[in-house]
Amino acid sequence: MISVEEALTRILAEIQPLNQTQVPLAEALGLVLAEDVIAKENIPPFDNSAMDGFALLSKDSRPRNGNPPRLRVTGGIAAGYVTDQAVEEGCAMRIMTGAPVPPGADTVIQVELTRNEGPESEWVEILQEVAPGNNIRPAGEDMHKGQTALQRGIEIGPWEIGILATLGYANVLVIRRPRVAILSTGDEIVDVGEQLQPGKIRNSNGYLLEAAVRRAGAEAHRLGVARDSVASLREKLNEAITYDLVLTSGGVSVGDFDYVKDVMQEQGQMNFWRINMRPGKPVAFGRIGAVPLLGLPGNPVSSAVTFELFGLPLIRKMLGHQRLVKPQIDVVVAEDIRERAMRRHYIRANVAWQNGLFVAHTTGNQGSHIMTSLLNANALLIVPEGGVILNAGDTAKAMMLDWPEVES
Ligand code: AMP
Ligand code: MG
Repeated sequence: MISVEEALTRILAEIQPLNQTQVPLAEALGLVLAEDVIAKENIPPFDNSAMDGFALLSKDSRPRNGNPPRLRVTGGIAAGYVTDQAVEEGCAMRIMTGAPVPPGADTVIQVELTRNEGPESEWVEILQEVAPGNNIRPAGEDMHKGQTALQRGIEIGPWEIGILATLGYANVLVIRRPRVAILSTGDEIVDVGEQLQPGKIRNSNGYLLEAAVRRAGAEAHRLGVARDSVASLREKLNEAITYDLVLTSGGVSVGDFDYVKDVMQEQGQMNFWRINMRPGKPVAFGRIGAVPLLGLPGNPVSSAVTFELFGLPLIRKMLGHQRLVKPQIDVVVAEDIRERAMRRHYIRANVAWQNGLFVAHTTGNQGSHIMTSLLNANALLIVPEGGVILNAGDTAKAMMLDWPEVES
């Protein structure tokens, strides 16, 4: 039996980021950028107004004999249009936010600091002296031509998509999404739409893992259920080898009908099959043909927790991410955890920010078949191996799965 850390190290050692591909910009969300993005233009591309107001010469804004200067309005420029008409001394032009600053003008005053007779007014009074460059957003102020705006290896989020859009990247070079096959196993498993017969249960893992895989940023393909026979597993796993990764659930323990390991050994190779943890000791990793196979336990909670601990980092590595594992933080344990587990125990917990501390409340019955223990769990509280007992008020580590609760 190997430790959680060793299992993860062994998994990641076998996984490389996938190849690169061009995707349309709108599909790049969550993917890793595979090229440096260089600004091919200045952004903004031209000097433009930051305000609705008037473009003028700054020296014309000086009060005359203590009175606001009155300037002649010679035209207007809306956003999206250019003018070659220059602003001359003693004159001003209306200008809208985002419109190019007309030649001759060196400053813009916002409409609130002017007075006139309305939109058609032929004159405007300037109520405040303005310095050159006032309210002008110079070309290249945000990004200058030739600058590396985004570096390869970063995750593309909404802000990066905005930058790519402004720089004209209709398509982006990214690391492609892994295609993940999900195979459930067990003679007792029926699909969600089916009537339950005696002895049968519905395939919760297939759907849970599909959702978890998609949330991790990969493409999920449910291949249904393999029966508890070597022949059925062979057939289904044969179908799975066109994918980048195979995730199975169940059939990986020491039961009479747990054939996943056997078929993996026969058709590929096995790296390990037991981890010193709870829930989820029976986790197998290896290959089927050349394709990595992560065999998760059948119990739904074990399957979910081991996916978070091993499946997620594996997929993230394929996606080219630098950060692979969720963050761990120090938390205060809200209640006694007196059960002595010799294996490392990952307890489903809700972590909340209370009186300046992160406090972890367990989510109740921690049986690996109690799916409801996953509800409300935004963290896994880590009880170290070796029969450690935690008392209320003790500090422990928790791996955050989701946002902590905050006091409102
Ligand atoms: P196994 O590891 O195959 O012995 O499965 C362990 C437990 O998980 C058994 O109680 C199975 O019935 C249950 N189980 C296995 N696969 C699934 C599944 N796809 N959905 C829900 N429960 C499952
Ligand atoms: Mg089974």
